[in-house]
Amino acid sequence: MFNESNQGTDSPEARRYNRIRRWLGISDFVVGFAFLIVLLVTGWSGWLRDVAYRMGVQNYTLAVFMYLLLLLLIGKVLGIGFDVYGFRLEHRYKLSTQRLRGWFWDEVKGFLVGLLMGAIVVELLYFTIRQWPQNWWLLAWALFMVLFIVLAQLAPVVLFPIFYKFEPLENEELRRRLVVLSERAGTRVRGVYRWKLSEKTKKANAALTGLGVTRRIILADTLLDNYTEDEIEAVLAHELGHHVHRHILKSIFVQAAITLFGFWAANWALHYAVDHHLFDFVQISDFADLPLLALVATVLSFLLMPALNAYSRFNERQADRYAFESISSIDPFISSMNKLADQNLAERTPSKWVEWLFHSHPSISRRLKAAEEWGRAQAAHT
Ligand SMILES: [Zn+2]
Repeated sequence: MFNESNQGTDSPEARRYNRIRRWLGISDFVVGFAFLIVLLVTGWSGWLRDVAYRMGVQNYTLAVFMYLLLLLLIGKVLGIGFDVYGFRLEHRYKLSTQRLRGWFWDEVKGFLVGLLMGAIVVELLYFTIRQWPQNWWLLAWALFMVLFIVLAQLAPVVLFPIFYKFEPLENEELRRRLVVLSERAGTRVRGVYRWKLSEKTKKANAALTGLGVTRRIILADTLLDNYTEDEIEAVLAHELGHHVHRHILKSIFVQAAITLFGFWAANWALHYAVDHHLFDFVQISDFADLPLLALVATVLSFLLMPALNAYSRFNERQADRYAFESISSIDPFISSMNKLADQNLAERTPSKWVEWLFHSHPSISRRLKAAEEWGRAQAAHT
């Protein structure tokens, strides 16, 4: 038999918390979007470029970096209110375990990582634009994809450890269970790691990360310490489902197609703006047009968000189904879902629109319903 779950009931607290978070995200997005438009329309982007040239002693490459630095600094100042509010929100709902000091350092580290990655991308972009003003977008796309794949590989070993501590899972019983699970799937995962999330939040999480030799399952200590071994196995089975169905690799192909279209559209927009004297840049290699590039990327990702989320939800359902098939009882899957929902103050039944637009995972109520149906079908067989 399996537990009856309380699929439909969301506490007013969970509803309020998620609604505020959603509005916070939307407001942040709108301000960023408006910032890009203002930069272009007022000509402030051109003024920033001149400042950047002076700071970069008239050297193009250095000036590109200075321009990006100025842009990111102003963007950070504009968005800092939302960041602080987000930090306080997590505390108000007793979800965060992080002190202001730790949070502040995370913000600084986040900014520096963003600056470094942004600088690599933007320098590469303007290098290709300068060299091949007509066909730069094809080469830029190829370089971008190489970067993307390298980053996916390095992320678990270089990027994540900047913010979190990881250690190999010590629990022998769990490791043995994973080996059994993955052997049944005819595959092998390189490692399972304990992810020290408890230093920052009470929320629990798990993920499949990395690529090739760095591919691994990471399980939050907030999950490992509070869930039964059967429940952890159910979560592991779901992550293994992502692995078996090659979801990371497939997402890279999807990303590649979208990025190719994005670069093509960006090239068109740059040439159009220059030919029609829309803004104050006279050639596309003028990096004062960076806000226009960012605008194309923002609009594109905004328009594609529902489709990409639908694709992600499809993958999540696939991983869930894999979990159902590979664990001996559906009960621990159901109880782990219920625990996760409570622990993370998740909305079990978001409105249809919210789920369609914003959610990368099916709602908890849908996942529970699918699990219960699976359980009933299994019971009917025996
Ligand atoms: Zn998943």
